[in-house]
Amino acid sequence: MKAVVFEKQGLENLSVRDVEIPKVGPGTVLVRIRMAGVNPIDFKAVTSIPHVSPVPHIPGAEFAGEIEEVGSGVSGLAKGDRVTVYNRHFDGTCRMCRSGNQQLCVSGYIIGVGSNGGFAEYAVVDAKNAFRIPDGLGWEMAASLPVSALTAYHAIAESRLKAGETAVILGASGNTGLFALQFAHEIGSRTIGISRKNWIKEFGAEMVFDSASAVEKLKEFTGGEMADVVLNSLGEKFWDMGIKMLGYGGRMVGFGTLSGNMVGIDFNEMYSKQTRIIGSTGGTIDEFGELVSNAAAYKLRVWKKVGLEEVKSALESLESPEREGRLLVEMRN
Ligand SMILES: [Zn+2]
Repeated sequence: MKAVVFEKQGLENLSVRDVEIPKVGPGTVLVRIRMAGVNPIDFKAVTSIPHVSPVPHIPGAEFAGEIEEVGSGVSGLAKGDRVTVYNRHFDGTCRMCRSGNQQLCVSGYIIGVGSNGGFAEYAVVDAKNAFRIPDGLGWEMAASLPVSALTAYHAIAESRLKAGETAVILGASGNTGLFALQFAHEIGSRTIGISRKNWIKEFGAEMVFDSASAVEKLKEFTGGEMADVVLNSLGEKFWDMGIKMLGYGGRMVGFGTLSGNMVGIDFNEMYSKQTRIIGSTGGTIDEFGELVSNAAAYKLRVWKKVGLEEVKSALESLESPEREGRLLVEMRN
């Protein structure tokens, strides 16, 4: 099969190669991949995450496809089933798994980081990670649920956002941002997107502010009360702005560090306003099940669909200001 592979980290070391189709084992399924999403986690896997495994490595943390073969002991899945893949490997037995937080499994890892991923024609995953998708659901949405949609869904859940509250989404035109807007809007919050792209109004943003003037505009919009929830998928560069946007009792949920990961906190300001800073990563398997069931209700904006040969340039353009929606990898065989 064709796969995007690297042996040494660095975008310059990515190449498309012919490698053996992985073999199914007990409790696993072989997925013929139809589409994969391109996310910051893939960029990091290729460039900087230590102990990526195995090496040589196939990145790609978000993908969907058809079951090609089922391993022994697998029930409820058959060849030809259309599936999307929950992207955390989890044991199902540890304290975190038993509490329903499979994304925090103590022996867990992200598929595409701790195992080979989806920038390939086939991948083997645990059968318990493969979710059948509803008839009629397109591959584009199916391949956007495991990382983009689930990360936003869980972050919004962690924020305890309620109807009538003000939610600010940083990086609102990005992969997670577009879903966060929709989920926040669905809850009934006054949803504000920070972005240069005015089309995010189609995804539920009541207001769109450019980051340069966002704090002042939010002050105006809320009559000085500021936000109840700020979602920060961008990290360091936008940290201070996000903190300034929090009102009394506000919550900032962070789940990405695209712009850096070292941040400062004015603890005096934090405790006196009783604000909270919440970390969030991925989502639970129950949340993923909910998303898969409801996926038809959500929208997507696709910027580019590329082939495996263009994965490198797709990763390079992740942060491009010209990007207008999702980057997806399409298997063209
Ligand atoms: Zn576990």
